[in-house]
Amino acid sequence: MMIGEPMPSQYDWRFNIVGIPIRVTWLFWLVNAALGYTSAMAVDNGYRRLAAVVPDVSSPGLPSLLAIWVVAAFVSVLIHELGHALAFRYFGIESHIVLYHMGGVAVPTAGYAFQRGGARRRLSHADQICISAAGPLLQFLSAILVGGIAIYMGIKVPMISTILDFVGIKPEALNWLPAGELPKNAWVYAMVEFYVLISVWWPLFNLLPVMPLDGGHIVQNLVAIIRRTDGVYEAHAIGTATGFLVAWWFFQSGSSINAMLFLSLAMSNLQSLQGRMGPPNW
Ligand SMILES: [Zn+2]
Repeated sequence: MMIGEPMPSQYDWRFNIVGIPIRVTWLFWLVNAALGYTSAMAVDNGYRRLAAVVPDVSSPGLPSLLAIWVVAAFVSVLIHELGHALAFRYFGIESHIVLYHMGGVAVPTAGYAFQRGGARRRLSHADQICISAAGPLLQFLSAILVGGIAIYMGIKVPMISTILDFVGIKPEALNWLPAGELPKNAWVYAMVEFYVLISVWWPLFNLLPVMPLDGGHIVQNLVAIIRRTDGVYEAHAIGTATGFLVAWWFFQSGSSINAMLFLSLAMSNLQSLQGRMGPPNW
């Protein structure tokens, strides 16, 4: 995501990676623990049931599972934002990263202008599409890396079985655990499962054409290239329709947190749209 930056507070955690300043607000940990609650509960229940019938199997317990989730979310979202920040740096623009309640944001320190060949230039729409895509792309790659390592090490994680199933490969054919079965080591299971889950689903959501998600920015710049406008109006119109549709879909599938998130995104897209009503200013 690339939007306005939340205010600094004394409870923020600050550090640097490859010269990029990073700030993590305290709300990041709290909101992500809440987002991970359902998944952590499901794993806890699964292992409690398994422990009743299989010896030397136990659940790490809900607090530990929540901690694993929050750390997985932290690493995954940080990698996503580093994707944006490194793409900015590729164009000669430095940025800083803030992780906050809604995820993360990479803020270019000196706007969208950069120096190249002695001349000062602005990021083109194609450049901005690259920067928007770099975050989800790096996050997907990290999921493939973690999943690949798990497969290589023979760590049997059902999430990967589900993905294999989804792309038409039978997990059993690879001597892999059938979807829905739990491996013996709950800790390793939770680490890989949560990391892959977050790093596949969150970038997918982020690529939906809703402002201010990465997908919304990509649509805005695509429209700008095709129609030679700034694309802001069109991106918010598409964002309003998509936001309501996705919210409705989440309500149908019983995921009310995600439904509320997309409902609020749809409403803010609609509000921006109404702000742009009247004579077009391009
Ligand atoms: Zn992003």
